[in-house]
Amino acid sequence: MSLNGGLVWALTQAVGPAHVLTDGDLSAFEVDWRKRWFGKALAVVRPGSTAEVAAVVQACKAHGTCLVPQGGNTGLVGASGPDASGTQVVLSLGRMNRVRGIDAANLTMTVDAGCVLQAVQEAAAAQGLLFPLSLAAEGSCTIGGNLATNAGGTQVLRFGNARELCLGLEVVTADGDVWDGLSGLRKDNTGYDLRDLFIGSEGTLGIITGATLKLYPQPAAVTTALAAVPSMGSAVGLLQLAQARLGPGLTGFEVMGEFALGLVRKHFPQLPQPLPPAPWTVLLEQSDCESAEHATALFEALLEAALERGLITDAAVAASTQQSNNLWHLRESIPLAQSLEGLNIKHDISVPVSKIPAFVAATDAALERAFPGVRLVDFGHLGDGNLHYNVQAPMGQAAADFLRDCEKAVNAIVYDAVCAQGGSISAEHGIGMLKRDELVKRKSPVALQMMRAIKQALDPAGRLNPGRVLQTD
Ligand SMILES: Cc1cc2nc3c(=O)[nH]c(=O)nc-3n(C[C@H](O)[C@H](O)[C@H](O)COP(=O)(O)OP(=O)(O)OC[C@H]3O[C@@H](n4cnc5c(N)ncnc54)[C@H](O)[C@@H]3O)c2cc1C
Repeated sequence: MSLNGGLVWALTQAVGPAHVLTDGDLSAFEVDWRKRWFGKALAVVRPGSTAEVAAVVQACKAHGTCLVPQGGNTGLVGASGPDASGTQVVLSLGRMNRVRGIDAANLTMTVDAGCVLQAVQEAAAAQGLLFPLSLAAEGSCTIGGNLATNAGGTQVLRFGNARELCLGLEVVTADGDVWDGLSGLRKDNTGYDLRDLFIGSEGTLGIITGATLKLYPQPAAVTTALAAVPSMGSAVGLLQLAQARLGPGLTGFEVMGEFALGLVRKHFPQLPQPLPPAPWTVLLEQSDCESAEHATALFEALLEAALERGLITDAAVAASTQQSNNLWHLRESIPLAQSLEGLNIKHDISVPVSKIPAFVAATDAALERAFPGVRLVDFGHLGDGNLHYNVQAPMGQAAADFLRDCEKAVNAIVYDAVCAQGGSISAEHGIGMLKRDELVKRKSPVALQMMRAIKQALDPAGRLNPGRVLQTD
């Protein structure tokens, strides 16, 4: 039996032959969502339980084989697929999709890591409760992937990112041991916080197999509005006003640049855009504990005050759930519209909200000077100081050529500006392979040394998602 044959046999012993894929079209597991990284797996293994995950990890350890944990494969930084060597095993968690239980009085829910985010939201809603994590990929991304990337999304302003929504984890370690940390406790100061080590570790420290998540009461009413805004400074002014007037009722504050919405008009002309084009358009969402009438009255008063102060030039309040869904659909169609337009250079950055206007003005100008005619797809979670500041080739230039020739120089301009404003080169998507080299340039040597020490302690042989986040060779 060949070396690989021995491993494949051990894997089939662990999960059953039907769940070890070695032949046929495996591209769904090998190629990333943006089609930037094309890998080749030795095998794709689909365990159905935590015990099976542990058995797979032990088999790989015995054969000295590296593992790449994978959820929905919607990650955007080149971390969820195998490399091109054909020597890595993809550990796909998709079959682990059980809701293990809901404790309504404790406002918690325990799920398998392979549960799709939307299914988790729906299971909570079926009990009259809310799991607030929400992002455009929610129909296919998984809770394990959300936690491994510490996903953000559209509700961070009010509820925090995935880290803040998780109370406990179950993890299979690099040795194939199971750590049961599935606690529903909101207070537990018993030494180092192991849970928080695994959250955001992008599959490099352990395999998340289960999680206990925080739930919230469903709001009585959710209202949505669009506002046309003359400048980024006005958008930040509107955010301050909305926070002052709505307090924790403000659950979403998304900004969309005119070029980004123009791409949606071009690629999805069937989607209604209720406001005429403006330099910036803001989507506001309010969740109200009282009633729809109360929510609408608060919203209208806010928008009138904003109009009087010149912070907005026009607004439209959704009059029904359908209209509200349409407004969100507009926002969530931007990533798809830009991918239909062609590859662009993505930056998922954060700076303090107060510094966003200066960041955008300075960076737009520097890019236009260096690359005349460059097109900027700006949108994002302004309430969190997080912009998706994406740079598209000038009209007429092939996207692939632009990426090949200009990506380094574009990144240097954008990331220098981010750092000058005290920001982060990765607000929510993570590091993966895409930003690994940039991380080394931008993170302090002390921080990098501590990160390497953690990796060395938890995965000394470097078999979990090697070469992602940190260069391990
Ligand atoms: C259209 C679109 C919109 C998006 N919008 C947002 C957004 O608003 N906010 C945001 O934060 N992200 C966003 N993303 C990025 C992506 O959806 C998130 O990173 C998501 O959390 C990834 O989940 P996944 O299950 O697809 O993970 P994958 O892509 O499969 O994996 C991502 C990383 O997690 C690791 N991983 C996966 N499962 C496990 C596990 N069980 N144990 C350990 N490691 C694991 C992988 O090894 C990899 O490093 C978007 C993506 C798309 C395509």
